Amino acid sequence: MAVLCYHSVCDAWNSPLAMSTTDFAAQCAWLARRFRVVDLPTAASLVDRRGSLPGRVATLTFDDGFADNFDNVLPALRRSGLTGAVFVVAATLDRGHGVDWVDDPPAFQLETLTRAQIETMSNEGIHIGSHSLFHKDLTTLDYAACLEDLETSKAILEEIVRRPVPYLAYPRGLWNDDVAKAAKAAGYLGAFSLPTGPEPVGPFSLPRVGIYRDNGPLQFKVKNLRAYQSARTSRLYKAVRG
Ligand SMILES: [Zn+2]
Repeated sequence: MAVLCYHSVCDAWNSPLAMSTTDFAAQCAWLARRFRVVDLPTAASLVDRRGSLPGRVATLTFDDGFADNFDNVLPALRRSGLTGAVFVVAATLDRGHGVDWVDDPPAFQLETLTRAQIETMSNEGIHIGSHSLFHKDLTTLDYAACLEDLETSKAILEEIVRRPVPYLAYPRGLWNDDVAKAAKAAGYLGAFSLPTGPEPVGPFSLPRVGIYRDNGPLQFKVKNLRAYQSARTSRLYKAVRG
């Protein structure tokens, strides 16, 4: 199965990035019935050479650290007995950096998680990872700037959760060899991408499957098929990709 990548779970934001609370609850119930949903470090250790998890294993990740991850995701995971991982944009916490990276923002201000919310989630077993410092495209930074971004974001988050932050999700899933090298040098154990085509798989390019608002129940199930990871260039992939 796959490492799933969500963003927001919010009824008021009509965007591919925002899953409705009803659909999300249904997906959680389906996953809880059929899969062993593991935490992020376990998932990272189980990803095979093709980027898939074993047959009945799944894991949920959430990018960007939107406040609805606390209001809507945490209670839904709790109800289904599931766990997950949230990748936080660290400058939203100690530098007041607002959400400026979303292509189709709603009319209302998108809020991000507070320190206290992140602490609570971490204490409840939600894995906290880094989604960089400012959500810049890391492939556009020079090596020194990329390294500094990844080291600083890791340190900010580790100070809040008071435990190691070993995983990173590249903003928009974008990486290259230098970015992967900087992630390793910054002390991460692994990093997650979000491929839209064939990409090499490794500890610093762990692929995820994006789950979006317009994915109906059938698409969601297809995306969870083991074959999906390796079928991305096929016609099936073109029909279901979000
Ligand atoms: Zn993001």
